[in-house]
Order: sequence, then structure tokens, then C-alpha cells
Amino acid sequence: MTDALANLVEVQNHDTRLAQLQYRRSHMEQRTELASVEDRIAAIDRELVEPAAARRSFETREQALEDEQASVSVKIAAAERTLYSGSVSSPRELQSLEFDIASLKRRRSELEDHELELLVDREPVDARLATAADQIDVLESRRIVLQESIRDEEYAIDAEAALASAARATLVASVPSDLLGFYDRARVQNKGIGIARLEHGICGACRLKLAAVDFDRIRQQPPDAIVRCDDCGALLLR
Ligand SMILES: [Zn+2]
Repeated sequence: MTDALANLVEVQNHDTRLAQLQYRRSHMEQRTELASVEDRIAAIDRELVEPAAARRSFETREQALEDEQASVSVKIAAAERTLYSGSVSSPRELQSLEFDIASLKRRRSELEDHELELLVDREPVDARLATAADQIDVLESRRIVLQESIRDEEYAIDAEAALASAARATLVASVPSDLLGFYDRARVQNKGIGIARLEHGICGACRLKLAAVDFDRIRQQPPDAIVRCDDCGALLLR
């Protein structure tokens, strides 16, 4: 039975280690920073909805102006071809053609001016989007670094946990089931401690001092008897 207790102490060591690893896995500093980086990316994305829509609107208007300029240029070219083809000889018709060409050129010039105004107007929107894109680039890079660091640490923790679990499984096989039952119930009650040393009459699991009568009773037990703390149920090593 003392072998079983010694093995159970080893089981306890593995369980404590596994609990520490589990805690480390879920409380990595990188997770806190990653959450904050992701929040900032989301916040910038939200702020960008409006300028991104504004830029799309600028682009649509610019495209419409360019389309109209192209169409006016086609009309000018056609009118000029007619003008210089020699096919029109009537002075009135020639004058009318020249008038049309001048009017089309004015229209094209207006369209060009309008497009320049649009380009000036969209500058602050572009600048805001460019700044935000730079900020997101920096944050995305940080996110990747953090995710990799978390993965690496998870990998190391999982590898260590797998070894501890395997060693625990081997040990548990040699512990009688009733003893294991006591151990498991005591662990639930004592933050993971199911077996502890009894020192100076104090239970190492619940940290309570045993009543003198209980302590005496335990002391009278043979050395290989299984004893438990009356307060928390932990198995006690003497
Ligand atoms: Zn106790």
C-alpha cells in the first residue's frame, strides 16, 4: 500500500504540473496583446467605412467625367475631320462646324477642370485611408508574430502535457481504484491537491490543524495504513 501511496504522490506531481501547464496555456501574455491588436484592427476598420465609401463615390464621379471627356473628344475629332476634309464648302456650314468644335472644346475643358477639383477634394480622403492602411499593416504584422508565438508556446506546452499525461496514466494503473476515488474527490475540494503530507499535525491539502484526538488516532495507525484528513478528505502521508 505504501507503494500505491508513493505512486499517488507521483500522480499528484503530474496533476499539479498539468494544471500549471493548462493555466499557462490559457493565460499567455500574448493572448492579451493579441486581443488588443485585434480590437484596434476592428476599430480602424469601422472608422474606414465612411472614407472608403467616399473614395468609391469619388471614383465613380471621376469615371463618369472621363467617359464624358472621351465622348466629347470623339465628337471633336469627327467634326475636325469633316471641317478639314474639304467636303463642306458652304461658309455657313463651315462656321457652324467651327462653332460646334469650339463649344465642344469648352465643354471638354470644363470637364477637365471639374476632374481636377475632384482630385483635390479626394486628397484628404486618400490620405486618411493611406494612414489607416499603414496602421493596419503594422498591426497585422504584430498579429502574425503573436499568433506564431502563441502557436509555438502551445506546441511546447502540449508536448510537455502529453508526456506528463502518459506518465500519469502509467502510474494510475498501479493505484487501487478506491484510493484513486479518495484522491479525486479530495482534489475537487482542495484546488487540485488530493494527497499531502501531514506535518506538525497540519494537513498539507487544506492547511487545517487536525483535532488532537484525530491526530492521536492517526498516530496509532500502523505505518502502512491509509489515513485521510477528516476536514478535506485528502490522503495523508506521514
Ligand atoms: Zn485536510
